[in-house]
This record gives sequence, structure tokens and C-alpha cells, in this order.
Amino acid sequence: MGNYTLTVLPGDGIGPEIVKQAVQVLQIIGERYHHTFTFQHGLVGVAAIEAEGEAISEATLALCQQSHAILFGAVGALPTYYGQQPKVKPEQALFKLRKGLQFFANLRPVQTYAELLNASTIKPEVLDGTDLVVVRELTGGLYYGHLEPPVPGKPSEIRQTEHGLEAIDTLLYTEAEIERIIRMAFEIARGRRKKVTSVDKANVLSSSVLWRRVAERVAADYPDITFEHLLVDACAMHLIRRPTAFDVIVTENLFGDILTDEASMLAGSMGMLPSASLGTRRTEHGQFGLYEPIHGSAPDIAGQDKANPIATILSAALLLRYSLGLEKEAYAIETAVSHVIKAGYRTEDLKEEGKTLVGTQEMGQRIVDAL
Ligand code: ATP
Ligand code: MG
Repeated sequence: MGNYTLTVLPGDGIGPEIVKQAVQVLQIIGERYHHTFTFQHGLVGVAAIEAEGEAISEATLALCQQSHAILFGAVGALPTYYGQQPKVKPEQALFKLRKGLQFFANLRPVQTYAELLNASTIKPEVLDGTDLVVVRELTGGLYYGHLEPPVPGKPSEIRQTEHGLEAIDTLLYTEAEIERIIRMAFEIARGRRKKVTSVDKANVLSSSVLWRRVAERVAADYPDITFEHLLVDACAMHLIRRPTAFDVIVTENLFGDILTDEASMLAGSMGMLPSASLGTRRTEHGQFGLYEPIHGSAPDIAGQDKANPIATILSAALLLRYSLGLEKEAYAIETAVSHVIKAGYRTEDLKEEGKTLVGTQEMGQRIVDAL
């Protein structure tokens, strides 16, 4: 029975097609459960650069600030675009959103579907039942570094010394930064199977020794949650050896980047995986957040009705769960997706003999119908 304002940022490539399907799903949820969703659209990526001269304008950022949550498609262009040395890169939109709105946690749930186990290269019996979420620290760590001035995607410089070229990256975390991400992992675990795996490299890195110390301290506040440490290299191995043993994995920015790409292959296609970026700001019913598929703008298949909209539709479910506190509605979307997969509908990325090949729009419509 709520009134919610959602900012919709479709972006580039397949972004508009897949976001359209997710918005349609949210509209049906509104009708079915008597909520009013007001959608305010904004430009990001190449479209924003062409219209406004920047990847995301201050006005669009303000629009985001004033809403309950953000549904994001993808940004990015064909390699030829970057070959022309553009002054502004479409990817800056994401950087500005993450830093500006302080989304310090990126959640990537990874679930396998019994019907899609053969889509992966890992043995079905190893994959079956996988249901985990990676909580990646998003605004600190090795990924950004802490050298001044911080430059997105280029945290440090290569410089000339008397011994030749050298470059330096830093991995800095404060106690407070570690504590807030670890705490978020424990809170998420409470609503799941109650297990947290903290991933670090404490045998080598000082920042990981601090990470482990803070994690221990936070864990003491959650006696109901099973807690373990794992070194990142061991985690990489166990992810494909025994993925069902994980519930919540929490880790440093670059470790999370690498582990989530690895974990995405458990599900069979990038087109299946949603994500949520959360920060400290709370809404009336949850946390302010940005929701997007883990994949990019896929310009090679844009405008051809080929893209799998499920990752974006599942991102809309996360939006309902985390930002609006609408668990029942989120679950309804997830169930509808399972239903459509069970019924044998597949987009091209998951094409399989004996299954029904459908386009982006039909997949979206099938999910709407299942709801
Ligand atoms: P980015 O740097 O923005 O993450 P990327 O280089 O990782 O982009 P993606 O845009 O994620 O590339 O896509 C990689 C390939 O995966 C695409 O070329 C496309 O064929 C396929 N792909 C990605 N997303 C989907 C989807 N939703 N449905 C079908 N295929 C997809
Ligand atoms: Mg990518």
C-alpha cells in the first residue's frame, strides 16, 4: 500500500531494452499488491554525454537523491567510440553514482536453477543447490587506492626513477570502513542461512590483518551466525569445488571484483545475475540503493531483442527487498522467473535444444504473465 518514487537510468546498448522489461514487472507488482510506483527517468552514459556533455548530470544525481531507489541498466559503447579518445567516458556515470551517493557495498547474489545446471561448465552435482551472496566493499581498498589525486580507474601513476619505471598502488582500509561492510554481511546473513565467510589475505597483507581483527570483533555481536575466515586464493578454489558450502561471502574491493566474475559462471550466464549497491542512507523501509545487472551494455546485441532481461528483472526484485522492504513482492518476482525457466523459455545466451527460444520482450512478458 505504499507510494514509492524510483529513478530509472536505462543507459546504453541493451540497457533500455532490459530496463523496460523490469519496469513492466514492477508495474504489475504495483497493481497486484496495491503499491504506487512513480518512475522518473534520467540520462546516463553516451546518451547523457551527447545531450548534456557529461556521463551523468548534477540534475540526474539530484533526481536519484530524491528517490527511494535507482534502477540502472548499463553504460558503455562500442570499442570504436573509445578509439576516438572521448573526453568523457560513459563509465564515469557509475563512478559518480557510487562515490557521490556513497554506495560502499555491492551485493551479488548467485543462485543456480536446476534447469540451467547444464549451461555451466561445472558438474551439475557440484552446482546443484548453490545459493550465495558476495558482499563486495565498493569504495575503498586496492581498487581505488588512496593516492592523491584519486582518479577513477587509474589510482596511481607509472613514474620514471633512476632504476627504470615504477608504479605504486595502495590498499588502505580504516577500521570504520571494514566494520560497516562486515556488519552489513552479518545483517544479510541473519535473513538467510546464517553463515558468513570473511575473505582476506591475512598471511600477507597488513590491511587483511586489520580486516580479520575487525571481523572477529563484529562477529562477537552475532552469536547466532556461523563465522569463518578464508584466504582469497583458497576461496577462489572452494567457489568452484564446493559452492553450496557458502552463504554470505564478504571481502575487499578487488578480491570481490575477481571472485564475483568467477561466481557468475556458476549460474551459467551473465544475463542471470542481479546486483544491489547499498550505502549508509536509509529509506523509510530499508536502505537507499542502486540496482543493476552485473553485465555491461553488450553493444554487439543491442536493439536486436536478443538480450536476457532476467538479471535486470531480478535486480528489480532486490530493489523491492532492500530499499522498499517488500519481501513478499520480491519473492513473487523470483518465483515467476523460476517458473518461466522451468517452463522451458530461454533467451539466446541460454539456448538449449528442446527449449523454447524467446526474445527480450517475450521473456519479459512471460515473467509478467507468471506473476
Ligand atoms: P562492461 O565493461 O560494461 O562490464 P563487458 O565488456 O563485460 O562490459 P558485457 O557488456 O557485459 O561486456 O557483455 C559481454 C558479452 O556478454 C556481450 O557481448 C554479450 O554478447 C553477452 N551478454 C551480456 N549481457 C547479456 C545479456 N543480458 N543477455 C545476453 N547476452 C549478454
Ligand atoms: Mg564486464
